Amino acid sequence: MSQVRVRFAPSPTGFLHIGGVRTALFNWLFARQQQGVFILRIEDTDQSRSTDESIQAIIEGMKWVGLDWDEGPFRQTERMDLYRSHAMKLLETGHAYWCVCKADELEARRKEAEAKGLSPRYDGRCRNMKFASPPGDAALRFKAPQEGQTVIEDLIKGKVVFDNTVVDDVIILRSNGYPTYNFSVVVDDALMGITHVVRGDDHLTNTPRQIPIFEALGFAVPRFGHLPMILGADKTRLSKRHGATSIMAYKDMGYLPDAMVNYLVRRTGIKSFLHGRN
Ligand code: GLU
Repeated sequence: MSQVRVRFAPSPTGFLHIGGVRTALFNWLFARQQQGVFILRIEDTDQSRSTDESIQAIIEGMKWVGLDWDEGPFRQTERMDLYRSHAMKLLETGHAYWCVCKADELEARRKEAEAKGLSPRYDGRCRNMKFASPPGDAALRFKAPQEGQTVIEDLIKGKVVFDNTVVDDVIILRSNGYPTYNFSVVVDDALMGITHVVRGDDHLTNTPRQIPIFEALGFAVPRFGHLPMILGADKTRLSKRHGATSIMAYKDMGYLPDAMVNYLVRRTGIKSFLHGRN
């Protein structure tokens, strides 16, 4: 098998959340156990929410818990040409199309569909339109498969099957030219040679959106593992209501980094993954 390459890909939109540290930790452990490579990638294409202070907080938090990376930190905003060229490739090969629907129209149609008990997904109005040149103020959508199933042999959850009828034609480039998460993540995971995508299970429903994009671009599809979220005692997702969620808040309270790592790694039962089921 080829060398294991994994990544931690936080969005710099606040402090480093303890759940993010846990995701990073399992990637790091897997890379170290397999003599693989651990990559740090900053997903900062959401310009309205990303800040430099937050990037610093991620780096500081990672260093405090001792999670060293082998490549990066890469910043997605420095890789925009790659996303645009790959988006154009999808357009040329008929896997993507311009969408001129406006946000308010989309919202109105979504509400209408919901009121009729229909799926709120994009109705495909622009799917078969032909434009001689790129229309102004248009977004690029991926032409997702409309039938069949996408099967994920998840390293942690086992087999997960999604019916393609529930998968939307996601926007891959916004009308301002910025890529969306579901697109930049595929381009980067492919170009960075990621073999195992290990992330929180809040992203499980994004995986059937991403797999067809890998395929349409002719890239190998990595393996996926979705980690259960850390929950509070009340079984809801850990949030400020449960106390501090920033990793550095624990440093300030006097916790030792080794104690944090020990606690994070032991509190959930995903041993089979770490024991090399790859
Ligand atoms: N930027 C995404 C996040 O912070 C990364 C998700 C992924 O690992 O694919 O949730």
